[in-house]
Amino acid sequence: MKILSRPNLQDRTWLGIGGVAQAEVRIEQPGDWERWFRFVQREGLRPLTLGRGSNLLLQDGDLPFCVVRPPAKPRPEVYSRTNERCVVRVPAGFPLPGLLRWLQDHGLAGLEGLSGIPADVGGAVAMNAGSFGQSIGQCLHRVRCWTPRTGLVWLSGTEVQYAYRSFRPLGLGREWIIHEVELVLSPADGAFLKQKRQEVLHRKRQTQPVDARTCGCTFKNPPQAPAGQLLDQCGMRGRKVGGVGFSSLHANFLINSGGGSFAQAIELIAEAKRRVRDRCGVDLDPEVQIIDPCRSSPRGEGSPEPIGEMP
Ligand SMILES: Cc1cc2nc3c(=O)[nH]c(=O)nc-3n(C[C@H](O)[C@H](O)[C@H](O)COP(=O)(O)OP(=O)(O)OC[C@H]3O[C@@H](n4cnc5c(N)ncnc54)[C@H](O)[C@@H]3O)c2cc1C
Repeated sequence: MKILSRPNLQDRTWLGIGGVAQAEVRIEQPGDWERWFRFVQREGLRPLTLGRGSNLLLQDGDLPFCVVRPPAKPRPEVYSRTNERCVVRVPAGFPLPGLLRWLQDHGLAGLEGLSGIPADVGGAVAMNAGSFGQSIGQCLHRVRCWTPRTGLVWLSGTEVQYAYRSFRPLGLGREWIIHEVELVLSPADGAFLKQKRQEVLHRKRQTQPVDARTCGCTFKNPPQAPAGQLLDQCGMRGRKVGGVGFSSLHANFLINSGGGSFAQAIELIAEAKRRVRDRCGVDLDPEVQIIDPCRSSPRGEGSPEPIGEMP
């Protein structure tokens, strides 16, 4: 297990905002979890689970975290197969775009709507990422989590709860990290999947700033209307504070156009929430995970449960 000293987390997030952590560890084999946790305790650090950093807004400056990255190997593998369905096992640190290419090559459908989501598989499950009518939670067969209390444990589909942008393994408390997952997929034609993925990517390119430094959707969509529409009505499209601003292409995407800071992003988020509450009477709930060691919860405001972060 290699320990990287003082990683700059600005380079670990899509938004390009974040300070310097104390250490970073990539889990390579199951026994690394205990070794990593002993290290964290010995050094008095706070654990922070990082996927691809595509949904994170991190505080700047010196951070008391030891970042842990779940295993990225081995490659996905077919665990079981019938004519109707195929169970694929994949490590949590494996990139979701790479998994979608692998599924296309193996003629397996169920996740092609998630094309363009720059997550790791573990981060996608932790957030129950989804788009174009599909979510990764719908395809979960089993999830293997690590906790300091239980070590590695498999949970079946009935032992987890997922909803719109939320996922919770039952009975593990707050201290869990996804190690690997099994997904159920259905056989499909590879050429059809390729076309589907291209359509999704084309549509996203037209409506989202996919090449910008962004953290995806800033707010969850409330039942009343899409968050982007409400932000638009309140004049937040294109609104900037310093180097951070809401995209002019999609009002719910926060962008760092260079030199943006945590404080600027928080100021904009607070302004957006205030304007939407005052004008539309809707309380927006951040989807982006706001991680500030000075706040009691490292998860996004309004998130009912911390995920992947141990107190
Ligand atoms: C250009 C762009 C487009 C996007 N489009 C979409 C979209 O269409 N749909 C959508 O749902 N989201 C979208 N997102 C948001 C983001 O990609 C998802 O939320 C994604 O699931 C985050 O995965 P990640 O690996 O980057 O997680 P991170 O951002 O690294 O982490 C997110 C949270 O998950 C926790 N976490 C990460 N890995 C684990 C693990 N193994 N075990 C436990 N907890 C873990 C972290 O601690 C953190 O709290 C988009 C983002 C960008 C930048």
